[in-house]
Amino acid sequence: MTHPPPLKDQFGRSIEYLRISVTDRCNFRCQYCMPLEGLAWLPKRDILSYEEIAEVVSQLAPLGLRRLRITGGEPTIRPELPALIKMLKAVPGIEDIALSTNGVKLPEQAIALREAGLDRVNMSADSLRHDRVVAIARRNLSFDPVASLQAAQAAGLGPLKINVVVMRGTNDDEVADFARLTIDNPWHVRFIELMPVGDMRDLTWEHVVPSDEVLRRVSALGALEPASGPKGNGPASYYQLRGAAGTVGVITPMTHTYCGSCNRVRLTADGRLRTCLYGDHEVNLREPLRAGERLEPLFRQALADKPKEHNLLQMQVGGLRALSQVGG
Ligand code: SAM
Ligand code: SF4
Repeated sequence: MTHPPPLKDQFGRSIEYLRISVTDRCNFRCQYCMPLEGLAWLPKRDILSYEEIAEVVSQLAPLGLRRLRITGGEPTIRPELPALIKMLKAVPGIEDIALSTNGVKLPEQAIALREAGLDRVNMSADSLRHDRVVAIARRNLSFDPVASLQAAQAAGLGPLKINVVVMRGTNDDEVADFARLTIDNPWHVRFIELMPVGDMRDLTWEHVVPSDEVLRRVSALGALEPASGPKGNGPASYYQLRGAAGTVGVITPMTHTYCGSCNRVRLTADGRLRTCLYGDHEVNLREPLRAGERLEPLFRQALADKPKEHNLLQMQVGGLRALSQVGG
């Protein structure tokens, strides 16, 4: 049997990585992501079923898709998430499935997710202090981020990556505390520059902490050496405190771009294929999918439109949709 040519965009970047948003809803209201009152949620009928998501993945895999990330919104609040993982793991060609989560449900779900075939977890954690977790997430859940990380680790969902959005005056004084976690734990803490997406209201450019400054703060703990990152390392640069079990990384969407090597596309919860996180490059797959059509021509059309790079630095705060809506 002859295989169709692999999916490549107009700049020759091949597409082997898909981020799948399974819901636009969330049990948090992070200051930098969602307004307190929530957003205009997608109606249930517009959201792809697990079977439909698996069908999109089955049609992409023969074209070169290898790695998946399940995200949202908060993916663990969608019922029966392990059932989806199991279906995706069974698609020939899929080698790696990761999950992005705020971690609240990891203590109760980590083992079932692992048993269903999940390989790895990225957990967002912006503070290690309970009062601040509540203030940033604007939800009073009894939640200990370190206990969630330990639950994921114990279930075998490593290498664990911890994503910290650094905000001046909010959590930037915890940079060293997060970096210290990597000394004894094989965890990979990644500090992310705050981005001007969604409706951030109280957050401005003054809250962005450039990653050079973050790395200077980490260096106060000891010698920091460049390191090779964990598997699936995407757009982060990694460093290691001498002798540490884990690494410290920085993701700098504001001050650098990685677009030249970007191999990722996104599937939104309502079935649109987005080829760039920023801007409106997307193709609607839902109706053709529900009509039983072959999706390959649409994949190729979407890829032909993948932009060369984003222009975040020219954007206004609030000028883009929230990451929770586009599957950040
Ligand atoms: N709910 C899951 C979580 O929080 O990990 C997955 C979805 S969340 C939209 C994915 C990532 O986007 C999180 O690491 C979050 O910190 C990041 N994010 C959301 N809004 C952001 C912003 N304005 N600036 C930087 N990172 C942002
Ligand atoms: Fe929810 Fe994740 Fe957005 Fe926070 S960053 S509001 S946890 S989707």
